[in-house]
Amino acid sequence: MTKPKITFDGQTFEFEPGDTIMRAAERAAIDQGIPRFCYHPGLPVAGTCRMCTVEVEKAPKLMTACSTPASDGMVIHTQSERVRKSRAGVMEFLLLNHPLDCPVCDQAGECSLQDYNYEYGPSTSRFQEDKRVWVEASTKKLSDRLTLNMNRCIHCERCVRFTEDVTKTHELLMENRGWKKELMTADDLGVFNEYQGNIADICPVGAITFNDFRFKKRVWFLKPKPSLCDGCARGCSIFADEEKNVVQRYRARRNDQVNGHWICDAGRVSYHTYSDPQRVVQPLLRGLAQSAPQATTWETLITWLLREMNQAKRVLLLIGTDASSEEAANLMQILPSLTRGELVIRSWNGTGEGVQSSGDDAPVDKILRRRDQTPNTRGIEQLGLHPLAARDGDFDVALFFRSGRATLPAQKLAAFEIAWGVFNQSESARFAAVLPGLSTLEKAGSYTNCEGLVQTFEAAVKSHGHAASVKKILDGMRTMMKAHPETAEREVARDFV
Ligand code: SF4
Ligand code: SF4
Repeated sequence: MTKPKITFDGQTFEFEPGDTIMRAAERAAIDQGIPRFCYHPGLPVAGTCRMCTVEVEKAPKLMTACSTPASDGMVIHTQSERVRKSRAGVMEFLLLNHPLDCPVCDQAGECSLQDYNYEYGPSTSRFQEDKRVWVEASTKKLSDRLTLNMNRCIHCERCVRFTEDVTKTHELLMENRGWKKELMTADDLGVFNEYQGNIADICPVGAITFNDFRFKKRVWFLKPKPSLCDGCARGCSIFADEEKNVVQRYRARRNDQVNGHWICDAGRVSYHTYSDPQRVVQPLLRGLAQSAPQATTWETLITWLLREMNQAKRVLLLIGTDASSEEAANLMQILPSLTRGELVIRSWNGTGEGVQSSGDDAPVDKILRRRDQTPNTRGIEQLGLHPLAARDGDFDVALFFRSGRATLPAQKLAAFEIAWGVFNQSESARFAAVLPGLSTLEKAGSYTNCEGLVQTFEAAVKSHGHAASVKKILDGMRTMMKAHPETAEREVARDFV
């Protein structure tokens, strides 16, 4: 069946029956030529800001692209003189009361009002009166995560519709009309949903800001790196915005198969784990007289590790379900050749109050969050690994590999416990040695999410400190093994544990 066709500025495109003009423009990837404030593809259409008006041939008036159905043979002009004049009028109207505080506004650099004013707005103002100023609402706490500056609000109501249609928590509303129209919280509880960062993301101006990022960085210094959130089994698509190898924030990256336009707040701030000054990024090894492992070199640590693994009768390799599938496969393939005794390989999760397998996982709400707070339980299961069980018995050495999300097992696993991956200083006290590894942000790989979708990701930043990839450490172990087959007798190892 032939699809209906629509013409935008002389170019003809197919669209799906039921599309609005804006949706047809999105399909044709020309939607950026149609400015919008109240329209957002993840929210119901409001059609209130009038910024997206376009000229439709044979229609007497300009039409809003967001709410007008597309029809076969429609001819649209998105940049005609009439359209541009209308947009200039909307901009002039919106700027009557908007403060001229771009230099001190956190949204500068990613503000629709700023960008559209440059593109369509009048360069001078005819407004002679005093601007309306909200004194008390100029830095109003909407919650411990969000701050409102009502002076900057342009009344698009995206924030209100988000709490009505996405979280269905109805915390925000507009009070009064016209000049006095003010965004309010419905009651003293303020905003309490678990997806508040999205409100700051979709606010087209700097009226609502997310406290975790507020006044932290000018956005033009940031490089957006596509990545995945590893905070739960959903595996939401994100941008990790980094500057000089330090991630400054996460933002939702549209992925209609997984997270749509949104991410949860816990995931949004989870990047702090990886830049935590307490994170172990130096090889650590505990000496005979030491209660906690101390900094050492990779060579000393690998030598010691090989000796322990060679002397042990039973070695446990416990792989966290936050390991990438590639890391887990590498460990499963190479470690047996570096161990003389029996090597038992099991998986470990322990998040969400006792999740160990994908069967223990469940939705936490009707939007995104999952009980399993690791990103790859399904992927690890597909490699044939089973969770550690009491019947697995005792071990001489236990290696626990994880990417920073799986919990630490409560019970001691072996006489010598070794941590491998992402750990912090307080966790490291328990271990005889720590091999610092890479976080999701620092490596490439794949995770299989709660719905069985395999998602690949690339490194967003370089590794921190002396943290190294699984491949690099395994290569180091193999090289050491070949160069020093007498590893078990080397003097260097005798000084430790
Ligand atoms: S606070 Fe932002 S999202 Fe909410 S109505 Fe005002 S401009 Fe729109
Ligand atoms: S729902 Fe899960 S994967 Fe998505 S942002 Fe939240 S923690 Fe991250």
